[in-house]
Amino acid sequence: MQQDPSSDRVVKRVVVAGGGTAGWVTATALARHLGRLIDVTLIESEEISTVGVGESTVPTFKSFHDLMGIKEDQFMAAAQATFKLGIEFRNWGRVGDRYIHPFGTIGTRVSWMAEFHHFWLHAKSRGFGGELGEYCLEWVAGEANRMSVNAAPNMGYAYHVDATRYARFLRAIAEPAGVKRIEGKIRNVDLHPESGFIDALTLESGERVEGDLFVDCTGFRSLLLGQALGVEFEDWGRWITTNSAVAVQSRSSNPPQPYTGAYAHEAGWRWKIPLQHREGNGIVFCNEFMSDDEARAKLLAEIDGEPTIEPWLLRFKTGMRVKSWFRNCVGLGLAGGFIEPLESTSIHLMMAAVTRLIQDFPFNGCNEALIDHFNEKSRLEFESIRDFIILHYHVTERDDSAFWRRCRTMDIPDSLKERLDLWREDARAFKLEDELFRVDSWTSVLLGQRLAPLGYHRLAEMMPDAELRGHLDRMRSEISKIAAKMPTHPDFIRSYCPAEAF
Ligand SMILES: Cc1cc2nc3c(=O)[nH]c(=O)nc-3n(C[C@H](O)[C@H](O)[C@H](O)COP(=O)(O)OP(=O)(O)OC[C@H]3O[C@@H](n4cnc5c(N)ncnc54)[C@H](O)[C@@H]3O)c2cc1C
Repeated sequence: MQQDPSSDRVVKRVVVAGGGTAGWVTATALARHLGRLIDVTLIESEEISTVGVGESTVPTFKSFHDLMGIKEDQFMAAAQATFKLGIEFRNWGRVGDRYIHPFGTIGTRVSWMAEFHHFWLHAKSRGFGGELGEYCLEWVAGEANRMSVNAAPNMGYAYHVDATRYARFLRAIAEPAGVKRIEGKIRNVDLHPESGFIDALTLESGERVEGDLFVDCTGFRSLLLGQALGVEFEDWGRWITTNSAVAVQSRSSNPPQPYTGAYAHEAGWRWKIPLQHREGNGIVFCNEFMSDDEARAKLLAEIDGEPTIEPWLLRFKTGMRVKSWFRNCVGLGLAGGFIEPLESTSIHLMMAAVTRLIQDFPFNGCNEALIDHFNEKSRLEFESIRDFIILHYHVTERDDSAFWRRCRTMDIPDSLKERLDLWREDARAFKLEDELFRVDSWTSVLLGQRLAPLGYHRLAEMMPDAELRGHLDRMRSEISKIAAKMPTHPDFIRSYCPAEAF
């Protein structure tokens, strides 16, 4: 007789469907943190390839690894990884513009009552202060192609990783930690006739894999959460209109830079991700304004190194499942939602979700309060990232193409409108709990996109010019001294975490 997998059923057997980055991140984290309490099985099919992209990350990736006890140098060598101190944006505010969104702190706080950028804006209005980037070690080091993890306490950095090698690296941790891997294609998702909970996954081979909790990591297909349980997809395409990408790998063109390149073009943008052994490249576009062939040709014409494989096309939608967790199924990775890759946030979203799943693990059953709590947090995380991405498209002076004219004039979510109003008036920016992007991130992008505020917090005027000038000069000089002592990025990789033949 079938056991009833309803809300008060004890959760002991977790089945992860899918073996892309999301599947292996989830299985590894569950096994590492809860391995003695639960059984973890992962099902993947060699017949269905992974999405094959997803190689640029944000600093929470490092924190997630630290929590799992993963050694940085070993992981980097295995994943042919390089360091990432931020993102270089070209052509976003206007064609020819350039700015960096760095991961580090900008300036040291002069007062607890107002952030650093108010003091810098005041200094600028008085005719001194230099460039904002000069107050951020990660920015200065990035520009000089330098890197060291120990250059200063709390260096803000992430990585560029080879996605396929990364999944392999995690598998080598997960299996010895107890994850059972099953190779096979899922043919059917078996639902309990009364509760509608998932009972089991039936494979093409006829094997039936039963579980108490199912994590859908089947990518854009969303086989369990979307298809079997019918959880709708909330489409944010009216705000983020890019819906296609062509990706290609190429030989390294020059020594790896410690930042991702994001170069805007007439219908979207192009990425450049330097790894130790190659570069990852792609062009993101809205197919209303650029054809697949045009995108492919443009990508191949613009990349620096020689392509090593045939380019491939991806279609996507920005948005999320209206519920990330429904009944006894949680959707992680692309199965749960996707925000186009401009700020490299997808892997972060899945890591944040699996962390919350572990923190709120439903040992005693999938009860509604727990599920609602989880879903509310997921939505907040997704929506705040969505707003940050829209900012890049909407706040621009570009009007050289129909794509940019539409982005510039489109309606935006109220939540973003509020942020822009606060900024425009007197440069106020904020970060709510659980949001990914810091005040310094908002500030870098708002200024980089040319949205100059009308004013700033007048508290900055309390400091006499000479004193402010002295503070600012000392900060800049200290940062440039630290950066000058750092090894070059390639030299640091060579000594710290070289993959074969780097
Ligand atoms: C253009 C683009 C660029 C991106 N760039 C970045 C980036 O720079 N940074 C970032 O963080 N994220 C990025 N992402 C997102 C990132 O690629 C994904 O978040 C990440 O790869 C995780 O994908 P996944 O594991 O959810 O899905 P997938 O990689 O698609 O894996 C799905 C898995 O499910 C399995 N599967 C599917 N159906 C079945 C079935 N019937 N039976 C058995 N198994 C099945 C497949 O075999 C596969 O193992 C990008 C995405 C796109 C589209």
